[in-house]
Amino acid sequence: MRTPIIAGNWKMNKTIAEARELVNAMRDDLARLAAGGKLDIVLCPPFIAVPEVAGLVRGTPIRVGAQNLFWETKGAFTGEIAAPMLNEVCEHVIIGHSERRQYFGETDEGVNKKIKTALAHHLKPIVCVGENLAQNEAGQTAAFVGGQVRAAFQGIARDDARGSVLAYEPIWAIGTGKAASGAGANAVIGLTIRGALAELYDEATAQAVRVQYGGSVTPKNVAEFFAQPEIDGALVGGASLVAADFIAICKAAVK
Ligand code: PEP
Repeated sequence: MRTPIIAGNWKMNKTIAEARELVNAMRDDLARLAAGGKLDIVLCPPFIAVPEVAGLVRGTPIRVGAQNLFWETKGAFTGEIAAPMLNEVCEHVIIGHSERRQYFGETDEGVNKKIKTALAHHLKPIVCVGENLAQNEAGQTAAFVGGQVRAAFQGIARDDARGSVLAYEPIWAIGTGKAASGAGANAVIGLTIRGALAELYDEATAQAVRVQYGGSVTPKNVAEFFAQPEIDGALVGGASLVAADFIAICKAAVK
C-alpha cells in the first residue's frame, strides 16, 4: 500500500505575510487530515517563506518543501539555493517542474544532478515529468515521459528511488483548467512511468514509488484522480493557494 501524498506548489505566489495568513487558515484542518499516517501533506512555498511556513507547522504532521534547488552545495552561484540550506528548514523539494524546464532552461541532465544532490542531503525529491500538447497529440507521450523518467533516475540507487516521489504533470493541463482524464493519467502513470521504473530497477520498486497527478486539480475533479489505482495523490498549483480548496482536495484523499 502506497500512502497518498498531496503537495501544494505555491509557485511565485504569497509574500511572507500572505503565507502566514494562508497557513493559519488551513493548518488545523490539514494537521487533522495528515494525522494517523494515512495521507502525507506537503506545502511548497517560495524559498523566502519556507522557514516561516516550517515554523508555523512545526509539531504537526504537515511537511514543507521547496520548489527548486541547485546541484552544487555552495559557492559562486548567484541567486541559487543549495541543499544544505534547504534541509535545515524543509524535507521535500520539487525538481524539474515544467515551468523550470520551459522558462529557465532546465534539462534532463540538470534534473538528474539535482535529484542526486537532494538525495545526498536527505531531501525527498518530487520529480516532475510530462509531455506538451504537441507531443500528446502526436502520440509521443509514452516515449517522451518514459525518456524523462529514465534520464531523471540515471545512476540513482534503488532505495533512493523508492524514497522519491514522481509527479505526472502533462504541460497542457497545468494552469489551464483542462485537466487530464483520470483514466488517461492512470494509464501514463501505470504503464509509462512505472514501466520505466521497472526497467531501471525492478517491478517491486516500480510498485513502491509514489506517483502523483498534477494539472488543474480542483475540489470538483479530484475524486476522479484519487479513484485511480496508479495515482498516489496530487501536485496542486492554483488550488493550493485557496485554503478551502486545498483542504477539500486533501479531504478527498482520505475518503
Ligand atoms: C503545478 O504547478 O504543478 C500545477 C499542477 O498547477 P495547477 O494545479 O495550477 O494546474
